Amino acid sequence: MSGQRGIIVLLGPPGVGKGTQGQRWAEENEWLYAATGDLLREAVQKQTPIGIQAKAYMEKGLLVPDELMDKIVEEVLLNSKQSILLDGYPRTLAQAQVLDEMAQRLGWKIQIAVLMTLSDDEIVDRLSARRICPNCKAIYNLKSKPPRNDEICDECSAKLIQRDDDRPEVIRKRLAVYHEQTAPVVNYYRSKGILTEVCSLGTPEEVYERLKKVTLA
Ligand SMILES: [Zn+2]
Repeated sequence: MSGQRGIIVLLGPPGVGKGTQGQRWAEENEWLYAATGDLLREAVQKQTPIGIQAKAYMEKGLLVPDELMDKIVEEVLLNSKQSILLDGYPRTLAQAQVLDEMAQRLGWKIQIAVLMTLSDDEIVDRLSARRICPNCKAIYNLKSKPPRNDEICDECSAKLIQRDDDRPEVIRKRLAVYHEQTAPVVNYYRSKGILTEVCSLGTPEEVYERLKKVTLA
């Protein structure tokens, strides 16, 4: 992939494995893996102008507004010499349109949007199996990474707990928000003819093979 610098947009619900798959893919292909959640945390930590603004919202428990996320992505587009795998953006139709505008203005081409799919029930199953150690913060998953002894931390023997965020009813609410916001983004890329889907059932290795296939095409 030479010439014009490319962007691949990675879409999918929480818990589908975007981070794991995206990082591996980007590393193997020498692309920049840009997860907007990480970039936001980094901006806050480094106290950049955007980070300082974002922190004010986060401290009030508010969502960081679209326009700040737009700016964070714009900085990536301005500074990256590598092609970019975008994870966590665009989340809304408005952001998808802003991304188009920025890409055009700054000389990038959005090559494809990859939607990683998994049923809501499967996601609830996966995420609600997550447990953390309240003492040393180790993270487990009763299905994919269980502790040696039933719900007891391997490291410090504390009793593991389930975070509120990982309760099935909370996950279902997050999924409802995801579907409502992302459906228009998915339709937008589909109507442009650049949407491709990757079924995310199976092992991480199986999913990665599918991801490789669609990104080679
Ligand atoms: Zn522990």
